[in-house]
This record gives sequence, C-alpha cells and structure tokens, in this order.
Amino acid sequence: MRNYSIRKTIKNNAGHELDKYADFMLRKQNHFYVIGSENEFNSFYNRTGRFLKEDEYCLLGFLNKDVQKQSRGGDSVFLDVPIVEEAIIYADKQAVIICTARERKEYENLKNIFEEKGFIENQTFFQGEIFSMIYDVYVRDIIRIDRVEVFLTSCCTLNCEKCISYIPYFKNTHHTSLEQLKSDADILFKNVDYIYKLKLLGGEGFLYPHLIEYIDYVYDNYGGKIGTIRIGTNGTIFPKTEIMEMCKRNHVTIDISDYRIAVPDKCKLEEVKNYCLENGVAVDIKRTGEQWLDMGFPDNIPEFEGEEQIKVHFQKCAMFCRQFAKGKLYFCCSNFAAVAAGLFPDNDNDYFDFNRQFSKKELLEFELGYSTLGHTTFCGVCGGCSEEANSCRVEVAKQVK
Ligand code: SF4
Repeated sequence: MRNYSIRKTIKNNAGHELDKYADFMLRKQNHFYVIGSENEFNSFYNRTGRFLKEDEYCLLGFLNKDVQKQSRGGDSVFLDVPIVEEAIIYADKQAVIICTARERKEYENLKNIFEEKGFIENQTFFQGEIFSMIYDVYVRDIIRIDRVEVFLTSCCTLNCEKCISYIPYFKNTHHTSLEQLKSDADILFKNVDYIYKLKLLGGEGFLYPHLIEYIDYVYDNYGGKIGTIRIGTNGTIFPKTEIMEMCKRNHVTIDISDYRIAVPDKCKLEEVKNYCLENGVAVDIKRTGEQWLDMGFPDNIPEFEGEEQIKVHFQKCAMFCRQFAKGKLYFCCSNFAAVAAGLFPDNDNDYFDFNRQFSKKELLEFELGYSTLGHTTFCGVCGGCSEEANSCRVEVAKQVK
C-alpha cells in the first residue's frame, strides 16, 4: 500500500503515533462520505464500509468521482449507500471524506478540491487505504497487510543490468532454505491477520527447488489468511506438470513479466501463459512498459542535501511492497535485495523485527512508514520506485554482457 497522506514518519512514541488520526477518524458524530470510482468504492466497502454500520458509524453517501456517471442519473444507491452530489457533502457540517482514489495524482487533486472547501487532511479528509488500516487495528483489533514479498532464490534465467532485486550482483547465489521459509511463514501469520497478496519471487520463481512443498505448507496452514499467493516469473521457463498441479490446488496466480521486446529469443510469454491456462492456473501479465526506472544504486547514486531531502524522497517514493525474511519485515523490497546481495549493510531502522513482543499498533506504524529516521537508510542511495521520486529511465531488461 502506498501512503500518500501521512507525511511525517519519524517514530517518537511507538504504539501511539496514529492516535491523533484515529481520534479524528473515529468520532461517532462523523458523517462519512466515500469518494472514488465504483471499483474503488466496492473494494473499500468490502474491506471496511460494511462494518461501519455494524459499529454504529454513519456512512451517508458515495460520491462517484466519475462525474459523467454521477450526473447521468439512474441508481440512487450503490451497495446500499446513497449516491450523493458534492453539494450535499459541502452542506453537511459533520462531513468526513474517505478518498479511495488509488493513484497519487487523483488523490492529490481531490484533496486540493476539498481543502478549498475547508476540509483538512487527516482530520476531515482521509486516504481510504490508510483509513481502512487504522480502522482495522483501532476498532476491530486486526491487521491486514496489502502485499508481502518472499525471496525464494537468487538464481535467474536472465541477467538484467537494472534489476530492482540486484540479482546479477549477488555475491553469493543461493536458494533460501525450505526450513527458513516455513519458519518465516509461521512467525508472519502468527502476527498478521491477513495478507492480500503474498508474492513469491527470485530471481526466477520457478527455479526454486522446494516450490511445491513450500506452497503446499503455506496454503494448508495459512490459506484462509491470504488473498492470493502469486509466483513471479520472467516467462522463460515451462514449469513441470507437478508444479502446475500444485498451483491449481492452492489457487496460485502466476505473474508473468512481459519481456518479449527486451529478450525476444528467451521470453515465451504467450506459450507459458497458454500452458498455465490449459492447466487451470490463473495468470496475470505484468506489462513492463517501454522503460524501467533506474534505481540508481550502486553505480548512479542520487545526491541529497541532507536528511530533509531524503525524507521528502521517501514520501514521494511511497514504496508499496514489503519483504519478509528471517523473521523481519523490511519496509522496502529493494532495500532488502541490496542487503541480501551483500551490497548494502543491514540496519535495524529498515525492518520490523517479529522476534520480539510488539503490538498491532506498532506494526501498523511500520507499515505506514514510521521508523527512527522517518525513511529507510537505503533511501539515501536509491533513486526510488515511483514516477514522483524518480525521473531516470532505462531500457527494460537490458542484459549484462
Ligand atoms: S527511495 Fe528506494 S529505498 Fe527508499 S523506499 Fe523508495 S525504493 Fe525503497
């Protein structure tokens, strides 16, 4: 999940950093209005909106940000919630907006529009995903994390110069042991109630020799706490039939990166996709675009003038992807990869240690970006993974000679 709205993330009072936001958010006199597309509202409603009424909060309206649809008339309710126009919200002195727009630009635009009408971010205007996470922990005593990656192997069939996981530069090519992965799954799911996407990656995911045993273990023990298990592949390998059978029984989705233009002689995207589908396994094609972002590290390190600039860089990046390894949740998967490759020192500012007692509120704070420094130590040498943070582009999957 990307945090656009909580902009100061230096840890001062662990376990209570979000109390002030929860205090504004959870007032019983609030009249909540959700703004977003129908899809965004749908997912917010399933995750949080349907509980508001049960918990005696007032969800009074849905403002469809697709103005065309809004003014077209027709239905007056969506998922049992009245469809409203902006004027109704502006006239309501107890209105609190939950903005479910997923893209930062859209979120910022809507925030600016409502700020002009007197709404205040994190008091009467909330980013929907942040609202849901705080609501989960403060009201329902559960913690659900959007996406966690697990590192299977540094072996790969490609050798991409600007790999976000630094695979060509690993000093010690290796597979993570099956025992380590199982013990990580145990400690992770002991402390986290739900993970929407559990993504298993390398390197090349299909090169991991214990894939069947590992995924069977995770699904058998924790399947009810996972939205989807996904394996990342570069589309150069046809997995064995037994792997396809395992994927089918465990409802695994195969994420295939599209490198047809970059490495046409190796990438068999269509064939691998059809092979998966014929075996009853779901596939998601990851379009890689015409260019990658150059993460900079280690040979093109960005320059910052001090801590303030690095904090701003971290906020602009808004990294959405956590990594779990050896009992630690890393805020940034690229940071983890640089450490695992032996290129960057491990630092306890950058991960949340599950091998100690902690509260859900502390874990939530970490998920939203709180740390001693207010950014990862790796942010000081990294170009960032969003368009807002990083303007350096490079060729997709250019191979190291
Ligand atoms: S700037 Fe780099 S190190 Fe920092 S969070 Fe973003 S991708 Fe990770």
